[in-house]
Amino acid sequence: MNPLITLARPEIVALKPYSHAAWLPSLTRMHANEAPWRPEGDNTIAGLNRYPEPQPQALIERLASLYGVSPTQVLATRGADEAIDVLSRIYLRAGSDAILQCGPTFGMYQVAARIQGAEVIEVPLDRNQGWCIDPERVLAAWHPNIKLVYLCSPNNPTANLLSRAALEHICSALDGKAIVVIDEAYIEWSRSASLVGWLERFQTLAFLRTLSKAHALAGARLGTLLAAPALIQIARRVIPPYALAQPTIEAALRALKPDELAASQSRLEALLMEKDYLRRGLELSPLVAKVWPSDANFLLIDCRDADRFMHNSIAGGLIVRDLRAHPALPHSLRVSVGTRAQNDTLLRCVGVA
Ligand SMILES: *Cc1c(COP(=O)(O)O)cnc(C)c1O
Repeated sequence: MNPLITLARPEIVALKPYSHAAWLPSLTRMHANEAPWRPEGDNTIAGLNRYPEPQPQALIERLASLYGVSPTQVLATRGADEAIDVLSRIYLRAGSDAILQCGPTFGMYQVAARIQGAEVIEVPLDRNQGWCIDPERVLAAWHPNIKLVYLCSPNNPTANLLSRAALEHICSALDGKAIVVIDEAYIEWSRSASLVGWLERFQTLAFLRTLSKAHALAGARLGTLLAAPALIQIARRVIPPYALAQPTIEAALRALKPDELAASQSRLEALLMEKDYLRRGLELSPLVAKVWPSDANFLLIDCRDADRFMHNSIAGGLIVRDLRAHPALPHSLRVSVGTRAQNDTLLRCVGVA
């Protein structure tokens, strides 16, 4: 049997999904209890009075071509956050299953696992080696009830890409035994290729991508789960039938037109230059002890005086992320790279003229 199915919760495999109103755009819709008129101010193409197309075909095809996979390997979600939620609900049995993550890392993996009643096993990244991952420690910590293994590359909040060889080692050792989820939310900023081609090599591998970061659409909520068709088919039954709102579908389709993609790429290049400018500035601040190397659109900094850094930023009208609650980051803050004007304001706040 396919491990994507045998690893899943039996109730989910047996689930009879909600049967939504048929999507037949050539026919007048009198089958979904919608209003026949548009609401005031509706500027969508399809009309907000209509339920949106579930997993819209045109969008799925654009996303598949953007990410270099087949449409059968794509699930569109309300942000990558919802993909994490869907994976948790498919694979984690309350009270017995667990996830494995390498911290400090993105907070949603463990929140989604805990909501589902699952345990969280943590294998720390090695701070002394630039937050690198130790695949042997990951494999030693793994046991059969660990159904989801999250690998975030570039990692949030440490900003580094994980070693390709280490990821490959983990993927091959756990293939068929756990769903290995490589979160590439920031891959566009890394100047490194996505590993998505590995879907052809590893059966139980999945990827998370998002339009929130590099495509500037965080407010639209559009993420993608990329995995083998058997997993995508289960996920389509678990995700709510009308997950994606019509304005989101239309905004994403606009962003994925060739002209927009090209414009987005040049803004991305400009922001990477701006990141170097902000880094050089922050390194001169008396409040900053270290700016870590970054493969993303943000900088992880260790402070000499994080309280003052936070206080001065807020006094200057801007806010950075306080990471000090994490035991591995007792003096650390995370700064998203802004425009030149915003970066200059921040630098003035922290004592760089
Ligand atoms: C921002 C982020 C996401 C989720 O992004 P969405 O806005 O939900 O698409 C996923 N993973 C990481 C590591 C992130 O930082």
